[in-house]
Amino acid sequence: MKKYDVIIIGAATSGSFFARKMAEQGFSVKVIERLSQEKLGRRLDIFHICKKDFANFGLPIVEEGNPIHAFEFENGYTKSPYDNYPKLTKDRVVGMHMPEYIALMNQWASEKGAEFEYSASFEDFVYEDGKISGIKYRTFDKEKTVLGKVVVDCSGTTSAARKKLPKDYGVETFDISDEDKFYVILRYVKLLNKEDYLDGTTGYPYYKTWIAPQMDPQGAIIGIGACHSYEYAEGIYKDFEQTVKLPEHEITHYERGTTPYTRPPYSFVADNFIVSGDAACLTKPNNGEGVTSSMVQMEIATRILGEALRNNDTSKKALWSINKEYNQKQGADFASTRAILTKAVKATKDEFEYFFKKDIIFSEKFLNSVAEGPEIKMSVKDILKIVFGILGGVLTRKLSTATLKKLLEGLSLGNQLKKLYLDFPDSPSGYDAWIQKADAIWKKVGKMA
Ligand SMILES: Cc1cc2nc3c(=O)[nH]c(=O)nc-3n(C[C@H](O)[C@H](O)[C@H](O)COP(=O)(O)OP(=O)(O)OC[C@H]3O[C@@H](n4cnc5c(N)ncnc54)[C@H](O)[C@@H]3O)c2cc1C
Repeated sequence: MKKYDVIIIGAATSGSFFARKMAEQGFSVKVIERLSQEKLGRRLDIFHICKKDFANFGLPIVEEGNPIHAFEFENGYTKSPYDNYPKLTKDRVVGMHMPEYIALMNQWASEKGAEFEYSASFEDFVYEDGKISGIKYRTFDKEKTVLGKVVVDCSGTTSAARKKLPKDYGVETFDISDEDKFYVILRYVKLLNKEDYLDGTTGYPYYKTWIAPQMDPQGAIIGIGACHSYEYAEGIYKDFEQTVKLPEHEITHYERGTTPYTRPPYSFVADNFIVSGDAACLTKPNNGEGVTSSMVQMEIATRILGEALRNNDTSKKALWSINKEYNQKQGADFASTRAILTKAVKATKDEFEYFFKKDIIFSEKFLNSVAEGPEIKMSVKDILKIVFGILGGVLTRKLSTATLKKLLEGLSLGNQLKKLYLDFPDSPSGYDAWIQKADAIWKKVGKMA
């Protein structure tokens, strides 16, 4: 039986990107996808990426005039709960139709020789001497087996392959629970007054809502994301609608979906195995977007996997530096931001208003830094400014001492996580001790929900 160099589970943005990056290095790649080719990617119509990311990740470029291209904008405002103190971040963003862009990415990977099989659902791993050596999968009528030197899980929030790993195989097998994901509801609306037509997005972190352009220049997408359930998200949306005066609109249709909103597994690699994309919870801690933040990890992973395959050693040890490099490049900053935000979102509406007024956490500098990624550039001076702002809030009774405690704790835990992730072990030895430290800090951080 033919043995592929790489088998990938899932053919959406992550699976296609991984497939292309391996196939262009000359490796044989097989991608299986649960959905039919016609249904692939249809869970969402529009998604955004920063325009510069086409070049950053060498992605197929889609420009105005191409039917996949929906719209572009540059201005991103972030506002307080009572619709005040807009903070502006500038970055050219492109909105694209997801199913069509995924089809283009599939073709882009196929051009280099990656083989795609649709309507093919991962069932389990195949092992040889206790190590992964392929997969079993199901098509309409058959159970099939395919062998591969390495299996890569890009199956999205279902984490189909990661969750099937034996508990002690080396990558955590947790389910992305209701508390660990965002239930996102998008209202596609028609704006009734010309003066309300949009030139960018406006986000309201207190409610985790946003108003963004869509392909119809006379329309908008009003979105909300919340943990627990769609019903819970709708409850928060009611408060948002009652407090912020939304432009007059008519809803044309809804879209719903979930995105991981929790920390990634501590290790992405095990013997002959890598996890990426939403299956690895690589979404941005500030907004749950994950298409290009996953690519930061995949660029590293595909380069290191290429070397490992050329050396004929795809053991956990040989793939380990994927963890290390990712944490240096993005993981440490994401972990730190997640801790800070988890504590900051516990504040009350009026306290959030004060944060915006005084540039605490939600300052243009912090927001720009998070938006630009992968590195969040916050100096000690910036952090001190936040701390003094918080103390000022407590003295003038704008912030409660409970919130003061939470914010300072968030900053401190964020700092500890950043240091710990930057100090990720160079090899699997030392990992157990590292996990114990990480577990202790994450326990104090708690859940966003
Ligand atoms: C409403 C909403 C809006 C969003 N907007 C943005 C945005 O604007 N920008 C952005 O960057 N991110 C956005 N995100 C997040 C983004 O959609 C994800 O981070 C990203 O699409 C994840 O890509 P992925 O390839 O890892 O996973 P997915 O897109 O989920 O793909 C996984 C693939 O694996 C397949 N699969 C699953 N199980 C199996 C199996 N057993 N066997 C074989 N195949 C399987 C699935 O069918 C699917 O095709 C949004 C999310 C939501 C919910």
